[in-house]
Amino acid sequence: MSDMTRRQFLAITGSGLAGSSLALLGFSPGPALAEVREFKLSRATETRNTCPYCSVSCGLLMYSHGDRSKNATASIFHIEGDPDHPVNRGTLCPKGAALIDFIHSPSRLTHPEYRAPGSDRWQRISWDEALERVARLMKQDRDANFIARNAAGQTVNRWLTTGMLAASASSNEAGYITHKVIRSLGVLAFDNQARV
Ligand code: SF4
Repeated sequence: MSDMTRRQFLAITGSGLAGSSLALLGFSPGPALAEVREFKLSRATETRNTCPYCSVSCGLLMYSHGDRSKNATASIFHIEGDPDHPVNRGTLCPKGAALIDFIHSPSRLTHPEYRAPGSDRWQRISWDEALERVARLMKQDRDANFIARNAAGQTVNRWLTTGMLAASASSNEAGYITHKVIRSLGVLAFDNQARV
């Protein structure tokens, strides 16, 4: 203490006083920093989902602003692996870890589009219009090209002029039902997005 200069003494006591005063006012750095970290997710809405990229189908936790009340616009701001998911147990590969950019990409397609024959542009249509059009075209094609019997007279029930590409991130149940529906129509050309 005897070696301490007046300037050093004032610096130490000043910072100590400032620190203790700030602590009394609730500005203790440790809790304050911890509070900021907790705040990021504590006001968020947590949604579970599946990574859309490949057949591994890793589980995701997606955090969004807004509690789905009327005056709040939901916006996802953080995505991480779901630690409770049996497939990935909280991990994600680089593609899954970068999903936040995919979600907010300005070129992301978020609605059905249709390009008329001969047209050079796509036009937006509703989901009802898209589903109705897909169903109608499938029926027309199946009615025109369904093969009930082969040349030898054997029952084959084939529909060879339409194919189906299924989503890789479907659940087991959705995948099972998709397979049953498309095979029951007679479609043989059936593949999965995971093999693209
Ligand atoms: S996080 Fe990676 S490994 Fe997991 S489903 Fe997505 S792309 Fe596949």
